[in-house]
Amino acid sequence: MNENIPVDEFKDINTKRFHIGSFQNEWLTRLDTANYSYQQKDQAAFDEEFAKEFGIAPETFDELKSICSVESLRSHTEDESPDTAAVPPDTTLQTLIQRKKKEDYKNSLNIDRTNRSHIYEEQLVGPSSPSHTLHVYTDTVLRELSFSYVCVCVCVLQESIALCKKPDDFADLVPEGEIILSIRVYQTAAFDRFNPVRPHATLQMLGSHYLTDLRDAVGCVSDLHVFGELSNTPNMAPDFVSKDHHKSAYFYFEHVFYNDMRFPECQDISATTIEWAKTRDFPSFSQAKMEDTKFSDLQVKVGYPYLYCHQGDCEHLVIITDIRCAHMEDCLDRKMYPLQTHKNLVHTNKCAVCNIYIARWLTTSDQLALSDPCLFCDKCFRMLHYDKKGRKLADFNAYVYVDPAVFS
Ligand SMILES: [Zn+2]
Ligand SMILES: [Zn+2]
Repeated sequence: MNENIPVDEFKDINTKRFHIGSFQNEWLTRLDTANYSYQQKDQAAFDEEFAKEFGIAPETFDELKSICSVESLRSHTEDESPDTAAVPPDTTLQTLIQRKKKEDYKNSLNIDRTNRSHIYEEQLVGPSSPSHTLHVYTDTVLRELSFSYVCVCVCVLQESIALCKKPDDFADLVPEGEIILSIRVYQTAAFDRFNPVRPHATLQMLGSHYLTDLRDAVGCVSDLHVFGELSNTPNMAPDFVSKDHHKSAYFYFEHVFYNDMRFPECQDISATTIEWAKTRDFPSFSQAKMEDTKFSDLQVKVGYPYLYCHQGDCEHLVIITDIRCAHMEDCLDRKMYPLQTHKNLVHTNKCAVCNIYIARWLTTSDQLALSDPCLFCDKCFRMLHYDKKGRKLADFNAYVYVDPAVFS
């Protein structure tokens, strides 16, 4: 049996292990170029072939084509051009009556559609903020937010923008016969063990992408943490977030740890695990570099849970759910990849005092708080804990809090 063709290991759960690049080659040797080519077939030749396959005369085919065309589907005379989006007032069709009812109900609702990223952004730099502190930190978070916002936009508009999108520059065209992988990255979450809903993002990656491309595309709040207890210096701008300091990370796929070693300060954080496994009854593991490994070089099982670990112990499940050849209805602009196609929304944690704004501070051993730890927005935190001259009014420890929902 050809081991490069994936077969089920456990039915409807995961496949056996196979090499992605070899699987791609199997496709390309077995398929006609026309099957995965982006070139549109000549319409006349297609019609002729179609008529031949159905055994009908060309005249009959032409007639059928004109009768079944979209232009023939009219509920008005040819000289009229009604607004197709508006439901006519005198309609007797039940579907339209129901649609009108639904539309009227929707219009009667007063929904605030402000994007959550914008609310957070306004809190950080907007007029409601009592002081313009934490500038450096703010910049970093906003940079991440803009990334997150772009992701959400891409996600929401994927159907309309990314689908079939051709690049402006021909050099950015996804090559014909390229492999597209769908990858789910689960967020670390303290959920109930049996809660079936776990927040995750789904990304589409190309076979020619390096593992570092996936690493850079995964947004995780633990990359944005600020170290240190800041109750005495709440106005001090921290110079860095955890992402700037701890750059080490690894992916684990099929007994191999792929370490990110792009920067001089990166360490092989998989070494401890490998050494530990050697003293136990585990199969041997090996190491490779994330920045030298393309997805097409990997051996994987589709549907099988793998691991992404960063910031020392922030672990995410990674599941490859699909591997297939690119076709002309995919997004064909390389620059749009990694393409986010799904993202779970995560609830925001609000301030314990006003319950309006998203929390930005976390306090512990706080005499003024109702709970330990306790969350506060910037405004309530300062009003409650400091006098007009900025002196502490009680004993407490304060830490910058980044809400996990900034990425959703
Ligand atoms: Zn993480
Ligand atoms: Zn508040």
